[in-house]
Amino acid sequence: MFIVMETKYIFVTGGVVSSLGKGIISASIGKLLQARGFKVTIQKFDPYINIDPGTLNPYEHGECYVTEDGFETDLDLGHYERFTGIHTTRNNSITTGRIYKTVIDRERHGDYLGKTIQVVPHITDEIKRRITHFEGSFDFVISEIGGTIGDIESAPFMEAIRQLRWQLGRDAVCVHLTYVPYLKAADELKTKPTQHSVKELQGMGIQPDILVLRTERHLDDSMRMKVASFCNVDLECVVQSEDMPSIYEVPVSMQKQGLDAAIMRKIGIPVGETPAMKPWHDFLDKQHNATREVHIGLVGKYDLQDAYKSIRESLNLAGIYNDVKARLHFVNSEEITKENVDEKLEDMAGIIICPGFGQRGIEGKIIAAEYTRSHDIPTFGICLGMQMMVIEFARNVLGYKDANSTEFSEVDKLDANKNNSLIHNVIDIMEEQKSITQMGGTMRLGAYECELQKGSRAYEAYDCVSLIKERHRHRYEFNNAYREDFETKGMKCVGINPSANLVEIVEIPDKRWYIGTQFHPEYSSTVLHPHPLFLSFIKVCVE
Ligand code: GLN
Repeated sequence: MFIVMETKYIFVTGGVVSSLGKGIISASIGKLLQARGFKVTIQKFDPYINIDPGTLNPYEHGECYVTEDGFETDLDLGHYERFTGIHTTRNNSITTGRIYKTVIDRERHGDYLGKTIQVVPHITDEIKRRITHFEGSFDFVISEIGGTIGDIESAPFMEAIRQLRWQLGRDAVCVHLTYVPYLKAADELKTKPTQHSVKELQGMGIQPDILVLRTERHLDDSMRMKVASFCNVDLECVVQSEDMPSIYEVPVSMQKQGLDAAIMRKIGIPVGETPAMKPWHDFLDKQHNATREVHIGLVGKYDLQDAYKSIRESLNLAGIYNDVKARLHFVNSEEITKENVDEKLEDMAGIIICPGFGQRGIEGKIIAAEYTRSHDIPTFGICLGMQMMVIEFARNVLGYKDANSTEFSEVDKLDANKNNSLIHNVIDIMEEQKSITQMGGTMRLGAYECELQKGSRAYEAYDCVSLIKERHRHRYEFNNAYREDFETKGMKCVGINPSANLVEIVEIPDKRWYIGTQFHPEYSSTVLHPHPLFLSFIKVCVE
């Protein structure tokens, strides 16, 4: 049962350095308030000019996450969803580019006729509109501001927060995350950067209510007291976020220190009893007990933890629910050759063939798919990974040596029908994609239905549910002209989108676990509801 009250706002900002884990803190606050029965949403503001991260290389900001309603977003939304189980939407991820675009479109439309359009008030008003957009639908709206205090580009967001805090009074709380470095030579923890960061915030007219200090060493009470008195913050509102063995311990640590209670007291809500969060603790117990390891290879091209964030987390979670610790090994597909593939993959209990775009590294993925298929190593291909499984099967089982995807066979995208008759494009551009010339936000995005074939491995993994819904992000699809060929030779199309007849899942039933999905199951795996396909994949890897 939800408590009905006027919407309250929590702003999460960060100072000193980036990568402090504001997303994890925001998600933890969301989780803790949710555990108290409140209806919560979390949104992320990114101060860059791109409309969304869909056109960014994963090396820039890590993976691109996709919401159910088909918006390409920052990966922090993945944390929000995994922690809280809420479904975010396009309103939960906003960039500076989007803010400006809205304002500029309005200006062209004539909505501000006669006025000079300025950062203050027009841009700041649009930011405020995006923050308060959820008014009435949630008890708490948590707004995380990307970047670090002092960045030129985050200044309009800070001004919007300053104004909102002034307007909302006690209904708004500012949580500021900083870093307390440990200096080895002096054997001391240093609070000066925090003091400077708070000063910077104060200079923008924002007094933080709560400070979360990221630290690699425990801060004693005198240290917290020092920060409290120098920064005008109550002692109980100075919380520390020590390095944890797992990000999923963070909510518990925050709860122990009373972060949620401090927020509620600031707002003036009776605090009451601390919720037990039994399911979360059960999960953590399982995590602690899962010590046996299973080694999984991630065949992809981005050697960066964040590039396959949701896949990594989905595997970790599925491991824990199978009572094992999933040890993930990145295998660069660009370095895989026919000669070294056995050496690269031999110690793995299972292989993920990762999603991706563009030519680079695809041949290595195809070689990996051939190796795991012929050695019957459990294999899970996701999006481009599934397409590579299909191409490999076409080349080596169906005998189409030139089998490819139109993405790579250099056929003019706009003219695919005319030119591709000679090449076996077993993966082809989707009909509705042919006329698209603009890159951003134009793929097949978001959740679509998929009908599962009874008796298939996938159907069993989904607990014998016949209609599922999964999130997509692609332009190319399994070419139905070859479906019969594939099915006769043993690769079955066991998941089909009922309205468009698109193949969403392929599998080889003769193998232990050889499944490819055109969709991205990793986006919908959460701590309390790990995704069934990952669960089933890890289960077989453990066996
Ligand atoms: N590049 C492929 C496509 O557009 C796969 C995309 C992906 O892996 N997300 O269809």
